[in-house]
Amino acid sequence: MGDNSAIEWTNATWNPTTGCTKISQGCKNCYAARLSPKLKRWGIKKYKNNFEFTQHESELGLPLKWKNSKKIFVNSMSDLFHEEAEMSFIEKCFMTMISADWHNYQILTKRPQKMVEFSRLFYKFFGFPIPPYIWMGVSVENNDTLLRIDHLRKVKCHTRFISFEPLLEKLDCVNLKNIDWAIIGGESGPNYRNIEEEWILDLIKQCKKQQVRVFFKQWGGPRPKSGGRVIRGKTYDQFPKLNSLKVAHQKKFEKLKEGLLLLQKETISKPLKVSSLINI
Ligand code: SF4
Repeated sequence: MGDNSAIEWTNATWNPTTGCTKISQGCKNCYAARLSPKLKRWGIKKYKNNFEFTQHESELGLPLKWKNSKKIFVNSMSDLFHEEAEMSFIEKCFMTMISADWHNYQILTKRPQKMVEFSRLFYKFFGFPIPPYIWMGVSVENNDTLLRIDHLRKVKCHTRFISFEPLLEKLDCVNLKNIDWAIIGGESGPNYRNIEEEWILDLIKQCKKQQVRVFFKQWGGPRPKSGGRVIRGKTYDQFPKLNSLKVAHQKKFEKLKEGLLLLQKETISKPLKVSSLINI
């Protein structure tokens, strides 16, 4: 974990929260649930609560310390929109992301209803949606979880993505309207469940038809790199395309960011709250 990730579609991981609760089939062999007890045994303080959901105020400033632009996966060891996550804490995470806007953030949840709720608050405070460099995403592993995509469409943001990993069955008629990017991957780890070529090819076809960019991450197997990531001789390495309209929107945040950085210098030990900055 930290500023050097082995995950193919990101450069770094930032875990302002750790721990989680399994909620669907995709969670069955959760990597974070397996790793947390080991990290606890190794005496890593952040994991003293094992896999119990925990917010870490001390982690809030980490992206500000990384001076070079990175793609940052927000919470590889948790779910930022977990039932126990306080809205005020999520808000602090977003203040960091707005302040450190030289990065791209990839936020992935299996709890999109809370993501929608948060984005509405964000919109109410700022008067515009979550900016394009903060990519909002959901995990979808089977047909039962396709509904998460409908929730994602309601999130007030610019960049939306789906992680179809671990892909557990063939997905029929996926509505990808307003989705920018799809990650597809098989499961890895000691109890991995098999993925079939037909499911992947069919999903890639659906993405292409609906003009969604594709990143095929892995076939899966005992280890993440076991089967490689080539399918029918091809590697799918695409990322979301941020068009000029989206980039132009970013300018609106420039002034806000300047103000935040100034305030942060003054309140270094006291993280900022959106509600303390905006009069509503
Ligand atoms: S939502 Fe993610 S982090 Fe939480 S249990 Fe499921 S797979 Fe693990």
